[in-house]
Amino acid sequence: MLENSLGRPAVISARGLYRNFGSTAALDNVNLDIQLGQSLAIMGPSGSGKSTLLHALAGIDLPDSGQITLNLPGSAPVQIESLKDKPRTKLRREAFGFVFQSGLLIPELTAIENVAMALMINAVPRSNAMDRAARALAQLGLAGMEERRIGQLSGGQQQRVAIARAQVTGASVVFADEPTGALDSATGAEVLETLLDCTVGAGKSLVMVTHDRTVAERCDRIVHLSDGRLLDGTARQERQAGAWS
Ligand code: ADP
Repeated sequence: MLENSLGRPAVISARGLYRNFGSTAALDNVNLDIQLGQSLAIMGPSGSGKSTLLHALAGIDLPDSGQITLNLPGSAPVQIESLKDKPRTKLRREAFGFVFQSGLLIPELTAIENVAMALMINAVPRSNAMDRAARALAQLGLAGMEERRIGQLSGGQQQRVAIARAQVTGASVVFADEPTGALDSATGAEVLETLLDCTVGAGKSLVMVTHDRTVAERCDRIVHLSDGRLLDGTARQERQAGAWS
C-alpha cells in the first residue's frame, strides 16, 4: 500500500479501476490515492469519466473491476468493491459526506431537518440529531434559518446546508460534484472556502469534481481525466513554483 510522506496509508486507495458502458470506457485502469487531510480536484471534459470515478471512490456505483481500499484511522482496511449493498450503504452514510451541485436536499423538509436526517438514518435519536444539526448550521453561518424550507434559502445558503449535512456525521471524506456550479462566482468562492474549512481544515479529505480551473486551483492536488484515463497533475507546491498543473 502506498504511503504518504508522513508514513500514513492513503485514506482511499484505488487500483486498476475499469468501468465500461457498452463500448464506452468510462474508467480505464485508474489508479489514485487520496490522502487524509488533503483536497483533490478531478478535472476533465464532459464525458471523460469524472462522475463515474467519484461514484466508484464513494462506493455509490462499483467499477467492473479493480480495488478501492478504505483506510480510516483506527479501523481495519475495508475493500469497498467487495461489500454487499447494505454494508456499502452503511459505510457510505457513516464514513462519507456528499455535496452535489443541486445539493440533493429534500425540499419538503426544513434546513435543520435536512441536516438532522443524515444522523437519524445512522440511528441517532431525533432530539440529539436536531441539537447537532443546529450546531452545524450555526457554524456555517445559518443560525436563525433552521426552520426555513430549502426553497426559502438562496443557492449559497442551500449549499451551506448541504455542507452542514455532509460534515455533521463526522465523515472522514467529503465528495463534492461541481459544488459551486450553480452559483455566481462570488457566492461560489465563499462556498468553496467553507467547504475547504469544514474538510481539510478539520483534518478530513475533500474529493471534488469540477470543470472550473479557479476552483480546482484551491485544492492540494489536481488530476485530469481523459476518456476514462487518469493523467496525473501536480501538487499545489509545484503549481506555485510555476510548473504546469
Ligand atoms: P463526466 O462526469 O466526466 O461528464 P461521466 O462519468 O458521467 O463523465 O461519463 C463517462 C462516460 O460514460 C460518458 O461517455 C457517459 O456517456 C458514459 N456513461 C456514464 N454513465 C452511464 C450510464 N449509466 N449508462 C451509459 N453510459 C454512461
